Amino acid sequence: MKHKKSKYAKCKCCNLIKDKLDVSICLSVLKNIDFVKNSDQKYDLYEWLIDANFEWACDKCINEKRSLIAKPSQQNNIYSPYLAYYSVNLTCKKCGNEFIFTKEDKKFWYEELKFFRESVPLNCLKCRKEIRIFKIQNKVLSQILKKDVKEMSIEELSQIVKIYYEWDKTNKFNFYNKIIKARQN
Ligand SMILES: [Zn+2]
Ligand SMILES: [Zn+2]
Repeated sequence: MKHKKSKYAKCKCCNLIKDKLDVSICLSVLKNIDFVKNSDQKYDLYEWLIDANFEWACDKCINEKRSLIAKPSQQNNIYSPYLAYYSVNLTCKKCGNEFIFTKEDKKFWYEELKFFRESVPLNCLKCRKEIRIFKIQNKVLSQILKKDVKEMSIEELSQIVKIYYEWDKTNKFNFYNKIIKARQN
């Protein structure tokens, strides 16, 4: 038996059934996408929204600023671009907390950074910052550790000690801290 499709489009943002007249903004965005505009094929754009697994929103959601209108021409998603963005909750892979991927973040993510459609941030802002700091610390550390301990300056040793302290690496912290103390005596 053939699966019967729903006849009406359900707004992905407010989850309400919307007829053609209530989704005019996203329909006009869709109509103006290059490959739709230049195609000989006549697409039923409203039906497209019904089947779409990509993001769009009704006029009310856009007008009331729950959704943000998207620019498909700026995206890396030629055949199924975002037509509108709305905020969603995601779970951080590092700390497990929920965080909001806001509609403004999404616009930046897909239109400025040109990330592909399926790509979403994995971590909350706090963890992203921590990861960034960790990467910088790691780089500093590996630069200094290339040298022999005897060749390291007090500043460099202090940097190592500080990083190991923040990472809670007690043994290494103690090891380099002793060297600093010995040098200062
Ligand atoms: Zn809506
Ligand atoms: Zn997190």
